[in-house]
Amino acid sequence: MRILIVGGVAAGMSAASRAQRQNPDGEVVVYEAGEYISYAACGLPYVLGGEVRGEGFDRLVVRTPAQMRGRGISVRLGHRAEGIDARAGTLTVRGPDGVTTTEPYDRLLLATGADPVVPPFAQTGLEGVHVLKTIPGAQELDASLRGARRVCIIGGGYIGLEMAEMLRARDLSVVVVERLPDLATILDAPLRVPIRGALHRHGVDVRTGVTVTGLQGQGRVSGVETDAGLIRADTVLVAVGVRPNTELAEAAGARLGETRAVAVNRRQETSVAGIYAAGDNTQATHRVTGQPVWVPLGLTANRMGRVAGVNMAGGDASFPGIVGTGIFRTFELGVALTGVTQAQAEGAGLDAVSVDLSSTDSAGYHVSSQPVHIRLTGEKGTGRLLGAQIVAENHLAAKRIDVIAALLGVGATVEDLFETDLAYAPPFSSTWDFPLVAADKLL
Ligand code: FAD
Repeated sequence: MRILIVGGVAAGMSAASRAQRQNPDGEVVVYEAGEYISYAACGLPYVLGGEVRGEGFDRLVVRTPAQMRGRGISVRLGHRAEGIDARAGTLTVRGPDGVTTTEPYDRLLLATGADPVVPPFAQTGLEGVHVLKTIPGAQELDASLRGARRVCIIGGGYIGLEMAEMLRARDLSVVVVERLPDLATILDAPLRVPIRGALHRHGVDVRTGVTVTGLQGQGRVSGVETDAGLIRADTVLVAVGVRPNTELAEAAGARLGETRAVAVNRRQETSVAGIYAAGDNTQATHRVTGQPVWVPLGLTANRMGRVAGVNMAGGDASFPGIVGTGIFRTFELGVALTGVTQAQAEGAGLDAVSVDLSSTDSAGYHVSSQPVHIRLTGEKGTGRLLGAQIVAENHLAAKRIDVIAALLGVGATVEDLFETDLAYAPPFSSTWDFPLVAADKLL
């Protein structure tokens, strides 16, 4: 059994490890176009902001090619897969020396991830313009920031907001430009208010409803042109989103889904026999709405990869879908969501109702207590729990989202949440922890 894997980060390496464990006698080969495998891209902002101990970027590498070889997995760095002949069962790969080889496979996994969107205005070749995606890219940004004074972040999503904090930690002047009327628009409007407040408190210049039209500079960027005037900046971080890397899958004739990511069944099989897909290039099913979604996140990539690995090696595993749980920190705020927002629920045709609650994360009288905001969403009539959003001024309190995520995964009701026997002591929560109070309000 010869298993080939294209892409060696979260989904690809999870699959490789599982496939090797499932069938130790099989051959597993991973082709990675870049210089690293198995690293935590999620940690890049924290290396840049000085929150990672030790060897900096190398700390993010979970396993090296040598460690993988020790587990019986071959890793080929600098190898780009360029084509698939699904009928013949072969993959065409170009090595670092430019030589192309044709590799036969029994099973093939496409774990090619997602690529940062670089709008035409940013394709100028000017120095000081960056995206954040890979370790080498982050090292270039790091070098660029050393001589920088004023950074413009284009995009007010989670990477832009994490980076706003990390750049302020480096004492840089930071402007965040967002085309939409607000930041973090994945959240319903009431939850976005504290985010704007935190950025303001920490001296971030926020320009929402502003569209970038071009970049200025000679050699190095010196300004960002917008429909509301010029913003001076010596460094620009483009963080306007990612798109699934589906090129190879499409070339092999695999069907894309409604979300434009690769469509797979519960075994992570694409529409082409013998070819699997997993991770940021792949569509999932939302367990709350039952609809296809594309939510490119780390745990999802690992979980999909694990399922693909088991199945490619002859086992039987099934990916149940996601509930869309996510979390990030910007300054002191922890921001988290799971399930669907009110807006998403309405978009999915659900008859939803939400309650908002402002409370504290621990007993109000305790010295550690900090404000927390929760929006809980349920379905009218059935009482089914549909989702929650939390913004907590002690960022760790936003991790309470996991209680709700776990319940969503089993189709629980708002009443089930209200009846949950949560842990309580004053430094940790109020007697009735805030998700319970919100559930009571929604009942
Ligand atoms: P990727 O990590 O994109 O890896 C795909 C690999 O495939 C790449 O290395 C690429 O070089 C390789 N490849 C592509 N095409 C080819 C080809 N033709 N031939 C050979 N190799 C190829 N997620 C969270 O859940 N929480 C977070 O806090 C979080 N923070 C993040 C912060 C940043 C700055 C970034 C960039 C991402 C963050 N993510 C976070 C997202 C998370 O990193 C991704 O969901 C995860 O890396 C996806 O893994 P993947 O294996 O699907 O794809």
